Amino acid sequence: MLDLRKRMPLDFLAYTVNNNSNPLDVPKGETWYRYPFGVHKNIGVLNKTYVCLNPTSPFETKCPICNQLAPLWQNKIANKEILDNNKRKARDLFFVIDRDEDGDKVRLLDISFHMFTKQLLIEIGEGNERLGDFFEFKEGITLNTRWEQKTYNKGEYFEISRIDFETESREDYSEDIMPAEYDPEKMLIKLPAEQLEKIFLEVDDVSSGGEEKEEKTSSRKEKEKGPEKKKKKEEELEEELEEEEKPKGRSRDGKEEKNKCPEGYKFGTDDCDTKPKCADCPQDLWNECMNAAGK
Ligand SMILES: [Zn+2]
Repeated sequence: MLDLRKRMPLDFLAYTVNNNSNPLDVPKGETWYRYPFGVHKNIGVLNKTYVCLNPTSPFETKCPICNQLAPLWQNKIANKEILDNNKRKARDLFFVIDRDEDGDKVRLLDISFHMFTKQLLIEIGEGNERLGDFFEFKEGITLNTRWEQKTYNKGEYFEISRIDFETESREDYSEDIMPAEYDPEKMLIKLPAEQLEKIFLEVDDVSSGGEEKEEKTSSRKEKEKGPEKKKKKEEELEEELEEEEKPKGRSRDGKEEKNKCPEGYKFGTDDCDTKPKCADCPQDLWNECMNAAGK
């Protein structure tokens, strides 16, 4: 895991998609630079964190926790506390090299969408086309990042404050630096839906297998999240405040507005800015979509 500092030159590297179910619909065999996912925090009697089974949005139906929470969105004020505690929080995994510290050591950056990715997408969208190649092995671009250290309820977290793209291409990396096992799908532990539902509902018979897997998940998560865990908790609190209005733009009750998305995704929903084509979206439309999605 990458420990953030106030100033960091970062080289982003692409992973290869190994299946046909990439959350951003990147085809198998192609490469991409971020892997979106969600987490649910404070789940079950042990208040643990679990990976959401929905690929991109709390309103998909694969995740039993999102399914259980879905009716609560209809009166989110009354259900605020439960939603704040348990709802899906958007995150991204990136593979990066810290130019100041690591040589060629690839690290995992696991960060809130709202604390980093959103800003990155704006920078890419507003810059010239070349910036979109920043993660390529050949002629990629180093990102000089500045992070603001913030505190919330005694916890600390980092939020991106500025991203500068180096004007010259970085030195080329060999594709061997990203072996096949650097696969985000394999790094995120997703429990079977039935087991996750039992844990959420605090059903007793999670005993043997369930307990064991839960423990395994926990230790793996500790390993992945390391010292940032506490910071992240606070970071998510911040994120929740931002996400508060998110469901507004959605049309969950069938009152679908005319879809303005030129690529045919759902305009102004959690689809916004999660698809590969979103990088090509006209700025005005992109802004409108982001606003409508409450992102
Ligand atoms: Zn979920």
